[in-house]
Amino acid sequence: MKKAIVLGAGGFIGSHLVKRLKSEGYHVVGADLKHPEYSPTQADEFLTGDLREAQFVERAISFQVDEVYQLAADMGGAGYIFTGQNDAHVMHNSALINLHVANECVVKNVGKVFYSSSACVYPERNQMDPDNPKCEENSVYPAEPDSEYGWEKLFSERLYLSFSRNHGLSVRIARFHNIYGPEGAWNNGKEKAPAAICRKVAEAADDGTVEVWGDGKQTRSFLYIDDCLDAVRLLMKGSFVGPVNIGSEEMISINEFTHLVARISGKKIAVKNISGPTGVRGRCSDNRIIEAELGWKPKFDLERGIKETFQWISKQVEGK
Ligand code: NAD
Repeated sequence: MKKAIVLGAGGFIGSHLVKRLKSEGYHVVGADLKHPEYSPTQADEFLTGDLREAQFVERAISFQVDEVYQLAADMGGAGYIFTGQNDAHVMHNSALINLHVANECVVKNVGKVFYSSSACVYPERNQMDPDNPKCEENSVYPAEPDSEYGWEKLFSERLYLSFSRNHGLSVRIARFHNIYGPEGAWNNGKEKAPAAICRKVAEAADDGTVEVWGDGKQTRSFLYIDDCLDAVRLLMKGSFVGPVNIGSEEMISINEFTHLVARISGKKIAVKNISGPTGVRGRCSDNRIIEAELGWKPKFDLERGIKETFQWISKQVEGK
């Protein structure tokens, strides 16, 4: 039986990944500061602890492991990353985790390591035009991410690649573009735009108003969790190292997105644009390389994925 370790197994993507690996017959060890919040973990073993501490990383990454998935990070949506309030924490916490993990993977001679980077690595200058953002993989340099979160991700991509060159560590690196779905953060200050807007619509009256940060013309693309996991697994099975985009090319403005959620909810919602942290003007995945290398394309369109997510968030709002 293959053995996998999922770091960040108590988080959104990590908890779903554990389920996926179990369904594929893996023995899975999860590690995180906390257990998943919305359903019990399916990991065979779950270690609770702080991956900023070398001793916990030594315990979490054992010998004879086929695959390590490094998803643990100090992260959140625009309200967490773009206010500037959390910059030192984000850089210090995530860099410490990655420094320990890369080193321990070499010490324990693990088969392969997956590192989850982010679209936030891309230069701000290429994302000023909401209709034409540029996010091809090789446009990342000269580097100019618009957040410290993005700088840390870029540093850690280079960290894993340097461990690959100098210590023979087998790595796979993906740049996730806004992954969403059920059982993600929705009301704790770390929620990202899709969940935040689903929550606001779910909380609104049938003819209510929803506040949207910025002028609402900023664009994004959102990828459903199941599609993300398909891509991660394909990347880990193949020989292509990356860094490669894992995202959707279905770009939408945030106001249009809000109208889509409103339509799904059946409510007549008015949108009110207010000032708030928004990040770059436009961002959308560029999937040419992942399609060519892995033959992967998303299966869920935005409407289908948001229906699933809205339903789940509505239930959380009702239960509160
Ligand atoms: P998440 O916040 O739900 O999960 C991250 C997990 O890491 C959390 O459960 C958290 O408790 C854990 N963690 C943080 N610090 C820790 C520490 N010191 N010790 C142990 N555990 C710690 O985030 P997610 O959405 O599941 O994202 C997973 C990964 O993918 C992250 O690295 C994130 O940066 C990256 N990513 C996510 C997205 C997205 O849209 N969700 C986009 C780009 C990149």
